[in-house]
Amino acid sequence: MGRAFVYVILGGGVAAGYAALEFARRGGYSRGELCIISEEAVAPYERPALSKGYLLPEGAARLPGFHTCVGANDELLTPKWYKEQGIELVLGTKVISADVRRKTLLTGTGETISYKTLIIATGARALKLQEFGIQGSDASNICYLRNIDDADKLVSVMKSCPGGNAVVIGGGYIGMECAAALVTNKIRVTMVFPEKHCMGRLFTPKIAEFYENYYTSKGVTFVKGTVLTSFEKDMTGKVTAVILKDGRHLPADMVVVGIGIRANTSLFEGQLMMSTENGGIKVNGQLQTSDSSVYAVGDVAAFPIKLFDDDIRRLEHVDSARRTGRHAVASILDPSKTRDIDYLPFFYSRVFTLSWQFYGDNVGEVVHFGDFTSSSPRFGAYWVNKGRIAGAFLEGGSREEYEAISIAVRREAVVTDMGELEKQGLALAIQE
Ligand code: FAD
Ligand code: NDP
Repeated sequence: MGRAFVYVILGGGVAAGYAALEFARRGGYSRGELCIISEEAVAPYERPALSKGYLLPEGAARLPGFHTCVGANDELLTPKWYKEQGIELVLGTKVISADVRRKTLLTGTGETISYKTLIIATGARALKLQEFGIQGSDASNICYLRNIDDADKLVSVMKSCPGGNAVVIGGGYIGMECAAALVTNKIRVTMVFPEKHCMGRLFTPKIAEFYENYYTSKGVTFVKGTVLTSFEKDMTGKVTAVILKDGRHLPADMVVVGIGIRANTSLFEGQLMMSTENGGIKVNGQLQTSDSSVYAVGDVAAFPIKLFDDDIRRLEHVDSARRTGRHAVASILDPSKTRDIDYLPFFYSRVFTLSWQFYGDNVGEVVHFGDFTSSSPRFGAYWVNKGRIAGAFLEGGSREEYEAISIAVRREAVVTDMGELEKQGLALAIQE
């Protein structure tokens, strides 16, 4: 049993949706030549909605409202759109092995799908507590969050314990966004993570202090510098408490775990060049892997960042998935006119009524600016490396202000006086 396509996009997430849009815009394929194979049962959607709009107590986002590519204020790619564009959606189908030399993929249903050009967009999977030696994380009230099934479970568990206690494991993106969503749903939250402060890989202690104080004012309790060791369960196997390394027992009606991800590279290990430092599939500026017929995009791809002197990075963020997805298609369909990607790393989050953006790299000396104390906070930080702005963070900015900091980073604005930079703050970016 088998089917042959010219172009196959493996994975049906954010990068796949934006790649499909680019194919449709450029029109470089005929009906039936292009397919998306996805383990998920639904067409590509904007994954960031799962920890934000999807969890709202009222007016929650639901499909088809957040299919790609609405997140970039572009078209809404519903299943009907794919049909109209002649793009086949092979949904609910897991690829279990790949043969790059033969250009074939084998699905869990025993079908062989062949391609001339493959775009790998398999994203990543959530790390499980078992991988850290903690048993029992398959309990019915322990939630992970990577796909829509996980989000549905989270919503239903949340609804089963109104006014109850949640323990959130991990102080990264999932932890912070889910904690905010749980509080909004009137659930009491305790966050547990091993670092000294939340968002340890991006936030400075001063920035983290602001968000931790804000969360505390919303009723969140922080337990920092420790990890969980086991769960207490009732007769039905439901978790009733989380036991920490320092001996504390935290009562829990539900647990949300966000302890990082691993890129889904396993199908291609031993066949394509990997980036060992970044844990992804290594690609060049055209998003092309070590096999010229295979491209990799989104969370799974480790690609050169021109602005960082072609340092290879694997970014786990939606803007990168959108842009690499589109860029790969441009490279495939119009290689002579498509330059190497020149990407400015961009991360953001929205929690409660807060909203921040970050551009660039958080390396070098940090200068904070702005008002960290007002009820409508507007503050930020610059990272200065070798006398130039390498990264910039801003909370509470306007669209123009976010754009201004992104331009300052993109231009690598020169800094001669750190004291002056601190005094100028946001004004430096705006004057640029
Ligand atoms: P994914 O979107 O993960 O898609 C991968 C797809 O591949 C999935 O459909 C998966 O089922 C499929 N797949 C994998 N293996 C196989 C296989 N063997 N066979 C068939 N199909 C397969 N980033 C931000 O910048 N801002 C945010 O606010 C933000 N919020 C987020 C909230 C949540 C809850 C999550 C989980 C992520 C969030 N992100 C955010 C990160 C962002 O969503 C990811 O960077 C982005 O989704 C990556 O896109 P991708 O296409 O590479 O992977
Ligand atoms: P993150 O990498 O952001 O954070 C993981 C957190 O868990 C870190 O604080 C980490 O600490 C901590 N941790 C690691 N191991 C343990 C452990 N055994 N016990 C307790 N804590 C632990 O991953 P997330 O899971 O939060 O997010 C998953 C993915 O989703 C990421 O790719 C992220 O980019 C994406 N996402 C992005 C959002 C956004 O951009 N706004 C929103 C939601 C998700 P340490 O740093 O010490 O390892």
